[in-house]
Amino acid sequence: MHETQTPLVGYTIRNQRYINVTNRCTLRCTFCPKFNKVWEVKGHGLRMRDEPDVDEMIAAAGPDPGVWDEVVFCGLGEPTLRLDEVLRVAAAVRVAGARRIRINTDGLANRVHGEDVTPRLAGLVDALSVSLNGQNAAVYDRHCRPLHAGAWTAVQDFVLRAQRHVPEVTLTAIDGLPGLDIAACEAIARTLGVHFRRRVLDDVG
Ligand code: SF4
Repeated sequence: MHETQTPLVGYTIRNQRYINVTNRCTLRCTFCPKFNKVWEVKGHGLRMRDEPDVDEMIAAAGPDPGVWDEVVFCGLGEPTLRLDEVLRVAAAVRVAGARRIRINTDGLANRVHGEDVTPRLAGLVDALSVSLNGQNAAVYDRHCRPLHAGAWTAVQDFVLRAQRHVPEVTLTAIDGLPGLDIAACEAIARTLGVHFRRRVLDDVG
């Protein structure tokens, strides 16, 4: 197990700067590295004892966020569980020159917060990557083990609403999960009117 003594708040993959927001999740995905006792993504140990505060996350984007192709809210956890903080950081790095801001999400923010939060993303978030690992609720529940009932439907409702406020929304699914029909997941993305990206099992980040 890889564990950082102090939180690794920012890390770089290619020319994208990732902000490690939380280790908490709304899902308990069977394929998640952390549930397999691995906390390292592409050489970066992401386990945190304490969640970073807003200032720490802003600092993690660097003095000139404009040098990155993208600032991405990610980590081995669900960033929108800390939506208020994420949006405050997004606003600050935008002012500081960030060219593009993305959130990697499970698409369950509306379900968790009990309201439609997507209008709050307008002007602050340029892109969303939303994972939907299942062409139906049964496959999704098997792999993602959601804490909330109706999660599969809630993700799609989130995507429909989010695209009104966020310029680029991409649905993702991991090819190689047992029973997952990647073509059917892509068809869902088409129906929702968003992009689709096929991901590869064990290639996180
Ligand atoms: S949403 Fe991501 S971090 Fe959370 S359990 Fe699933 S794979 Fe792991």
